[in-house]
Amino acid sequence: SQRIKIKALLESDETNIDVTVKGWVRTFRNNQFIALNDGSTNNNVQIVVDFENTDAALLKRITTGAALSVTGTVVPSLGKGQKIDIKAKEIEVLGDSDPEKYPLQPKKHSLEFLREIAHLRFRTNTFGAIFRVRNSLSFAIHQFFQDRGFVYLHTPVITASDAEGAGETFHVTNFDIANPPRTESGEVDYKQDFFGRATNLTVSGQLEGELGAMALSDIYTFGPTFRAENSNTTRHLAEFWMIEPEMAFADITDNMNVAEDLLKYVISYALDKNKEDIEFLSQRLQEEDKQKPQNERQEMTLLEKLQFCLDNNFERLTYTEAIDILKESTPNKKKKFQYPVEGWGTDLQSEHERYLVEKHFKKPVILTDYPKEIKSFYMRQNDDGKTVAAMDILFPGIGEIVGGSQREERLDKLEQRMDEIGIPKDELWWYLDTRRFGACPHAGFGLGFERLVLFVTGMGNIRDVIPFPRFPKNAEF
Ligand code: ATP
Ligand code: MG
Ligand code: MG
Ligand code: MG
Repeated sequence: SQRIKIKALLESDETNIDVTVKGWVRTFRNNQFIALNDGSTNNNVQIVVDFENTDAALLKRITTGAALSVTGTVVPSLGKGQKIDIKAKEIEVLGDSDPEKYPLQPKKHSLEFLREIAHLRFRTNTFGAIFRVRNSLSFAIHQFFQDRGFVYLHTPVITASDAEGAGETFHVTNFDIANPPRTESGEVDYKQDFFGRATNLTVSGQLEGELGAMALSDIYTFGPTFRAENSNTTRHLAEFWMIEPEMAFADITDNMNVAEDLLKYVISYALDKNKEDIEFLSQRLQEEDKQKPQNERQEMTLLEKLQFCLDNNFERLTYTEAIDILKESTPNKKKKFQYPVEGWGTDLQSEHERYLVEKHFKKPVILTDYPKEIKSFYMRQNDDGKTVAAMDILFPGIGEIVGGSQREERLDKLEQRMDEIGIPKDELWWYLDTRRFGACPHAGFGLGFERLVLFVTGMGNIRDVIPFPRFPKNAEF
């Protein structure tokens, strides 16, 4: 008989047929009932073993974590939860798992513990659900852009430009570590690290993406991005995935509309495609919530939160309006903001962003027109001389999920800003060429993929929504 995935088997209600399933043992009760899981769903299929007629040596090898191939007949279930069981005819152990040594026991493990065995955490229900949701979200992102005629453009991972001038870059080097090129004063010469010139891993594909948009009209990138964030926050990774669309003949309003539509589209796609998984994660959070004091509990379940996000327009206001709100706010009776809002011109901290979203507006917020001093050189300067056409999208529980802007397409303004900030124009001559030859209004944004997955799964730590998290001192698996 043909192998069938457990999800497909449980969705069909055909009985009295013979099937083969393959998967890993979750539990084995009374020498009789195997709960088998193959990662296609969190639901296990129950295998009923005729233990009286099964070799004792084989029974002993059916342990938690072992890989099995089972052929048998689909029968109506003896138990409650499921509609069907498989009455085993033939069981083959493909891979043994020593129950004394297998780190995953059939009990609930803490997320902290599972982070230490990230190579095995895929086999838990929580991480199975998270990575299936992550998969759907990434498919939906491509679907959204492909349906709208955007070209998926691959921007380089190794580059000589650090797009933001922020300096949080990883060097790329091919030189002999034991014998690196040195400057006259004897220090390692990182200016020569990549076949004789300085390079780093990309912190954003935007500048290259703009080149694509200035010819193909609408493009997007979706790839790994690297930032040497030396902090241990629950919102930053050293390696994360970013979605960066860039659109020619578009302004800041078009940009906001596309970003809001994209977020709603992909959330709605996941809700539909991964209903079971999201319900499981929602349930998981509700149980976690019960352990917390009343005033720290969520006002909405995960499912309600996602639905709410789909049913409401994002609140749109300027940075200046947000500062006015924040100056008059105290987050709660006892405590002021940890970082007091000093007034116009300073960047918002995540506590401020989350206050606006979670307490003040109680929905996603798009902030626009930030002071030019706290934003990048390429953002289009507004007529007031003080602000730029930037937009950040802030989400409940997350803070910033999207950062974007209309780009400065006027060569003189762009060069003047680069001079003010001290960005070398000669290094970006290729970028400036798009302003010399056929410049046009254009806009784009960066959506942090893991922050999106955090929102949709309701998880609290970004390290739990990427299969192989990279953060300071963590690169083994
Ligand atoms: P933050 O203020 O949270 O540090 P940022 O303003 O530095 O973010 P951008 O340069 O605007 O980030 O990048 C676009 C998006 O990429 C952000 O809105 C966020 O969703 C995501 N992002 C940025 N840095 C990281 C990181 N280290 N890990 C995961 N996602 C990130
Ligand atoms: Mg940052
Ligand atoms: Mg930011
Ligand atoms: Mg940003």
